[in-house]
Amino acid sequence: MRLELITIGTELLLGHTIDTNGAELGLALAEAGIRVGRRTTVADDGDTIREAVEQALACSGAVLVTGGLGPTADDVTKRVVADLLGLPLEFQPDLWEGLLARFARFGRIPSDRNRSQAEVPRGATVLPNRWGTAPGLWLENQQGLVILLPGVPGEMRRLLEHEVLPRLRQRGAGLVVRSRTLRTTGIPESALAERVGEVEAALAPLSLAYLPGLEGVDLRLTAWELQPEEAATRLEAGVDLLRARAGEFAYGVDQEDLAALILAEARRRGFRLATAESCTGGAVGERITRIAGSSEVYLGGVIAYHNAVKISELGVRPELITAAGAVSEPVALAMVTGVVGCLGADVGVAVTGIAGPGGGTTDKPVGLVYLASTVSGTSRVRRIVLPGDRQEIRARAVQAALFLLHQQLAELPPQHSL
Ligand code: ATP
Ligand code: MG
Repeated sequence: MRLELITIGTELLLGHTIDTNGAELGLALAEAGIRVGRRTTVADDGDTIREAVEQALACSGAVLVTGGLGPTADDVTKRVVADLLGLPLEFQPDLWEGLLARFARFGRIPSDRNRSQAEVPRGATVLPNRWGTAPGLWLENQQGLVILLPGVPGEMRRLLEHEVLPRLRQRGAGLVVRSRTLRTTGIPESALAERVGEVEAALAPLSLAYLPGLEGVDLRLTAWELQPEEAATRLEAGVDLLRARAGEFAYGVDQEDLAALILAEARRRGFRLATAESCTGGAVGERITRIAGSSEVYLGGVIAYHNAVKISELGVRPELITAAGAVSEPVALAMVTGVVGCLGADVGVAVTGIAGPGGGTTDKPVGLVYLASTVSGTSRVRRIVLPGDRQEIRARAVQAALFLLHQQLAELPPQHSL
């Protein structure tokens, strides 16, 4: 079924509060097989709310609204919606008793304002709120379905789970909305689209989204309103198709992380890992040590930011730095062999680059990064120029370094079991 979302709150529009309700609802509704066609955020203003609900009903026939159910003057949702649907508000004594009991429990005295929270549009189903004062409401008539939930995220979440989703699932006829993601890195979005474009039609009825970020471009496939088995089969086949097109740039699926994949492969092969970092200042090591159990594989690293440290700790020859510069192919190679040697590791990765904003030249622009990896004595090096500001360049360099090592590990012949 189709549903629209409306999140109410001037604070959401001003950016003081992030619309977490909208995001949580999107995830939960997809899981329940509900297709959200549009999400609107509106101010705490009666006319605007009315207009938004009216439009959503006209378009989709069903709308879920959060916020503006409280006792304060800016909370007008219920009155506006009741008026729109032509339903008078009726005082419900048992709801009021419940509110009084709740107030008593917390030693508070209700005001006249709170009485309005016991008013319910005629014919509405009350969704009891054990976690707050404003109950949710389920209103349905020939104009469509309107679900009202409080704005407080914790209350919204619980009412959704306990009251709303069970009712919506019944209507969803067991259908689901599911996504799978193929993760790629080292290839720009447009180049990826060149490769993937040809198969886009073959992916139907799945929809495909390109999601670029600092770790690369994720390709997200979504199956809309299908039976769970069909969704799973189609998504699996879709991911395989995308993987074949993305080739060596695809490294994982869904939440898979490059550092975790490297650690798993190194562990399988009994390798121990070391890192040498200049412009990333330890961020490669940070990514690796984020993964629980990394200590089995990762020995440590050297943050060789100053040339003196590259020379003293990694054994990079000073002449190399003088001749080629600290950001250069031979220095990246010397860094990785140096760190593997001094820590006694089997595999390693090194980064040296110009993160900016200063320090760039025509020959060596800001964003220039040399990466080197080594696996069992064989080294490789890569030169890349990364876009973005200082922090973006550093984050991209971390991912690129991990990717270089990942690729080198992936190209090893498969292990034979003894
Ligand atoms: P109450 O009964 O507590 O007044 P309410 O239904 O009137 O609840 P609001 O007054 O709109 O809800 O919001 C209550 C709190 O929840 C505010 O702090 C608000 O910023 C927060 N909130 C409201 N909507 C959202 C949202 N979409 N995402 C995250 N937080 C929200
Ligand atoms: Mg309020």
